[in-house]
Amino acid sequence: MSTFASALIAWHRRHGRRGLPWQATRDPYRVWLSEVMLQQTQVSAVIPYYERFLRRFPDVWSLASASEEDVLELWAGLGYYARGRNLHAAARIIAGKGFPSTAAAIAELPGVGRSTAAAIAAFAFGERAAILDGNVKRVLSRCFAADGGEKELWQLAERLLPRRGIEIYTQALMDLGATVCTRRSPQCNRCPVQKNCIARKQDRVAELPTPRPRKPLPQKRVTWLVLRRGGEVLLEKRPAPGIWGGLWSFPEAPAKHLESYCRSTLGCELQSMKELEALEHGFTHFRLLIRPLLCEVAGKAQRAESAGRLWLDLADAAGAALPTPVKKLLGRLSA
Ligand code: SF4
Repeated sequence: MSTFASALIAWHRRHGRRGLPWQATRDPYRVWLSEVMLQQTQVSAVIPYYERFLRRFPDVWSLASASEEDVLELWAGLGYYARGRNLHAAARIIAGKGFPSTAAAIAELPGVGRSTAAAIAAFAFGERAAILDGNVKRVLSRCFAADGGEKELWQLAERLLPRRGIEIYTQALMDLGATVCTRRSPQCNRCPVQKNCIARKQDRVAELPTPRPRKPLPQKRVTWLVLRRGGEVLLEKRPAPGIWGGLWSFPEAPAKHLESYCRSTLGCELQSMKELEALEHGFTHFRLLIRPLLCEVAGKAQRAESAGRLWLDLADAAGAALPTPVKKLLGRLSA
């Protein structure tokens, strides 16, 4: 076994994270659910979602037979909603064909990349498959001064795999990246591989991995129509694919002819209009600047409820599958 792997396994026995709700199982459904939720999301944020999800969907069949809306409603707040949609689509595949049992086959499921598939295969089936998420990339590039890019890191990750103890090794590697070899303040004096770590020996910890040049995120602007009639607001289901696909949001305002759009398309006669405080929401690839317009509506026609639109009582709306900024706005309206 490589010195690296044996040091990690020994360290994990004493210092690894234990007692996480998905650790005591090899049930592929639970392992898969936790790994998908943990993508780009911290353990502490995932735990309540994972538990709630399992109470509602205890197995892959209950998830497969749920509506997408029910799934997204439980997902709301965890971010990266495409994960929720992919999870649902994958559940339908698994319910029909059974759970794939190799990393290569798991990687064919919607929303599961090579590293996530390897983690699922290691935890659920004990397969010797290498993971390489952001945390692991950082550990390997520091420890081995490997900065030649993805291909080199994948080869290295595969070379380091132990013959036995793949589950503990995989967990240890994840834990090391999340708790010791962190991006900003690595605690090298607590690290089990400090003696062999090249970055440490060469005093290059701060410069590895070399950051990719980042361009400032582009901004998109949108105006939302917060149409209110008595205690109700109009929500519209967002098209999928697209941001927040399948979630309920406020209708977007057209660039021109706002009042006639409200009348002819939404069936709403506007009484008054007031600009509310703007909101900002960050996505991985852009920032969304939202300008909400609160419009009081005199009456509503039937057509406002067609094509995925609904008038909802403010209190009921808060329980629907909503993106975070919609939730915030509703909170402001009911305050
Ligand atoms: Fe990371 Fe420091 Fe450990 Fe090297 S010694 S792997 S830089 S924590």
